[in-house]
Amino acid sequence: MSDIQGSVGQGGDNAEPDVRIVQKALNRFDLTPLTALAVDGRCGPRTIESIRHFQTRNVGIANPDGRVDPGGRTMRRLDTGSGERGTGQSPETRAADRQLRAERVDPRVQETAVTTRLIDHLIPRFGSLRAKIIGGFLSDSDQFWKVNYHWEYLLTMTEHSLTLSLDRADQTDLQNLASSLRGCAPTPSCGYTSSPVGKPVDNSSAEDALRRYQVLRSGKETFGRVTQRADLKKKSTRSAAMFDLAAAPVASPGKSKHGSGYALDIQGDNNGIKSLCSGLGATLVFDEKSHVHVEFKNGLAAP
Ligand SMILES: [Zn+2]
Repeated sequence: MSDIQGSVGQGGDNAEPDVRIVQKALNRFDLTPLTALAVDGRCGPRTIESIRHFQTRNVGIANPDGRVDPGGRTMRRLDTGSGERGTGQSPETRAADRQLRAERVDPRVQETAVTTRLIDHLIPRFGSLRAKIIGGFLSDSDQFWKVNYHWEYLLTMTEHSLTLSLDRADQTDLQNLASSLRGCAPTPSCGYTSSPVGKPVDNSSAEDALRRYQVLRSGKETFGRVTQRADLKKKSTRSAAMFDLAAAPVASPGKSKHGSGYALDIQGDNNGIKSLCSGLGATLVFDEKSHVHVEFKNGLAAP
């Protein structure tokens, strides 16, 4: 685990990357009755409460100040990892773990205690498989953000397709698709496909966001149909994978297991990932083309 650059917590500097490191580290410990933190880089009351709780229980500080300082006692204790995998391991083993994580887990992946356990059990089994975890815990608002990502992507691909040679019917279908998408635009209406998860923040009402999801879902079906019928992949200089992603299904926000931490998005050799995860007891394996969405509601099967 990399060390923090500035202090985190009550009255701390609270730089976003540092807050993430601390939130991730806290989630490796069982802080019952407190639940896992969203790793969002924002130091709110829940993060501070978790730091205090950790200081009392795991560091043995009688009057916890709710702050983690670089190189300080609380940070050193956080750095030992969880009770489950940190203690008793040699420094070499921990370094190997860190190395494996750096290779197999995108740093933007958000984790709860559940996600962390899943990831820690899964990545040693990747072996030579081309696989990298690119998504973990997603809060409700992050799941709606994902809808916006797909919304923007589909609109861009629809606009691009309208520049290709099309017969009348296909052109009409795509024009209708583009205008129905524009009719349910998020606020702001662009930037989702070029920013990290959760950015920019959409100011739509919940009602508008849900309607966007409905329009997106049927729009993706239309786009997939026209792509086939008009042979768009052949006509375009863009990759076939981009057309597949635009048409790929997107999970219903609020219902996805990303909200409870039981789902992971894994990128790489899709077929290999699917068979590995099925063999390990995945309760759902779903090919989203750009990655495989897997859910382990019952944890991982014994090796
Ligand atoms: Zn997913």
